[in-house]
Amino acid sequence: MRLSQMLWVTLREDPAEAELTSHKLLLRAGYIRRVGAGLYVYLPLMWRVLQKISAIVREEMNDTGAQECLLTQLQPAELWQESGRWDTYTKAEGIMFALTDRANREVGLGPTHEEIITAIARDTIRSYRQLPQHLYQIQTKFRDEIRPRFGLMRGREFIMKDGYSFHSTEESLKETYYDMDRAYRKMFDRCGLKFRAVEADSGAIGGSGSQEFMVLAEAGEDDILFTEDSSYAANVEKAVSLPPDAVVSSFDKFEKVHTPKKGTIETVCKLLKCDPTQVVKQVLYQVVYDNGTTVLVLVSIRGDRDVNEVKLQNELTKQASNYGGKAVINLQVADPESQQKWAHSKIPVGFIAPDLDDSYIDNVKGFAPKFLRLADRTVAELENFVTGANEADYHVVGANWGKDFPLPTVVNLDKAKASDRAVHDPSQILQTARGIEVGHIFQLGTKYSQAMKATFTNEQGEELPLVMGCYGLGVSRLAQAAVEQSYDKDGIIWNKAIAPYHVIVTVPNVGDTKQMEVGEKLYTELNAAKIEVLLDDRDERAGVKFKDADLVGIPYRVVTGKAIADGKVEIVNRATKVATLVEIESVVEYLQNELK
Ligand code: ATP
Ligand code: MG
Repeated sequence: MRLSQMLWVTLREDPAEAELTSHKLLLRAGYIRRVGAGLYVYLPLMWRVLQKISAIVREEMNDTGAQECLLTQLQPAELWQESGRWDTYTKAEGIMFALTDRANREVGLGPTHEEIITAIARDTIRSYRQLPQHLYQIQTKFRDEIRPRFGLMRGREFIMKDGYSFHSTEESLKETYYDMDRAYRKMFDRCGLKFRAVEADSGAIGGSGSQEFMVLAEAGEDDILFTEDSSYAANVEKAVSLPPDAVVSSFDKFEKVHTPKKGTIETVCKLLKCDPTQVVKQVLYQVVYDNGTTVLVLVSIRGDRDVNEVKLQNELTKQASNYGGKAVINLQVADPESQQKWAHSKIPVGFIAPDLDDSYIDNVKGFAPKFLRLADRTVAELENFVTGANEADYHVVGANWGKDFPLPTVVNLDKAKASDRAVHDPSQILQTARGIEVGHIFQLGTKYSQAMKATFTNEQGEELPLVMGCYGLGVSRLAQAAVEQSYDKDGIIWNKAIAPYHVIVTVPNVGDTKQMEVGEKLYTELNAAKIEVLLDDRDERAGVKFKDADLVGIPYRVVTGKAIADGKVEIVNRATKVATLVEIESVVEYLQNELK
């Protein structure tokens, strides 16, 4: 491609709309343009990058025996009603764009495709003989994200590879799951990414396992915890750890003590000369279920620890049926403002005990009349602990479960953090890193097949629900994540596997016939050799061209400058900036070797 003929506009200044370096660079280098919140046009250079990534993904998927297909983006509401996700996705979470067509039928724009594929499986799969099956597609997804941001990282329209597999047994599912694990690692390696596979939260769906693939980058939105020896790595949402041991309490008598204005762990510990590990603190949440019921949740956790809200949400989802609901719509800390809606009188925030009286909850429509009380594992074994006295400015010390307070239901709600010990090997200390989630593989089990009655007949003639897996990969997010991991002060540094072009031939002065001649000759020869080449034949100053070439990040730059007098051109490696003089006649061979 000749740059003089390409629709290509670079920006000198950083665009105000972008925070992340990769986002700025893609805008400045003319890869993408924003047309609305979370909506980006992939300009020709970007489209080439996306095609290359897609080709790698496709090759590795096909290699595992998965079959490519294309599902519809418009999805009938009925299918989502069958799975029970229509209301959550269109109303509660509101992630799905929904519309009504001219015949008054409700349809949604696909944020994901479990319902469509399960309907297809239901219609086409009858017998175990047809199993396993694995279908995938590479397609645009639509999600009305609450906070679309960071360019292609969190768009409202983006490209995903999504695959769905169907099995007669869990073992067969596991085989495909591990095949996908291997295939994903190959894809990311081929794209030149530094990544880590981590245990992930499977959310309310449960299922027997799920793993995320994180591209390591400071700008990532996800926190990862891992051990030095790599034997453990997990998303912080899912991670488990051994918290530090609690310091033995020096209180031996249960008594109420005056702690005026000491409503925080830090201040009360200072006053009482105790350690935060001896304190049982209460965090008050409120959860709204899909049937409209609000439940107030009192979580007791050790003073030095924090609640992992993803774990809490999973626990509350398990408890949903106790309240006549199915799913959690909203979970938040019950702050003083929200307390006004239901609290009979002022809650002694900062001084709450695990047995805060249910009579605090007024008889308000839609509110469960009792607190749901949960205790994290970290407090279950504490003895002679400190906690609130249910009265402003007072605590109790020397308290014990069973004697002074009933022990609530014990669950694991603790948020693991760096410097905690690993559960599998306490000699290993957890460390943190930040990552960008580019892929997520998931053992779904029978959630969708059961809800949508997608069954098969096994060898014994029994009718059973299909066992499912699903495997997502963010193609457009991956492209930007690659930039986030590879740039310098001058611009993008593409890995040659996914660069839009391999080589840019820069003619410093197009008015110089000799320079132009060599440029044209190399352009023709490289094209003939199937090396993907840009020819910078624009009537611009050499300085501008060099700057643009660095910005756009093509792996090799060939300059038809002064050296042509000696029959040579300069070839600059974008990543290392090393310049080599190469005989004009050997350029193709030289680049073929470099690009191998
Ligand atoms: P996130 O937690 O980042 O919102 P997710 O859990 O919603 O991701 P999945 O539903 O598993 O993501 O989708 C599969 C893949 O699609 C993700 O791993 C990610 O790479 C990509 N992806 C998800 N949402 C977006 C988005 N809004 N923009 C770009 N890529 C996305
Ligand atoms: Mg999401």
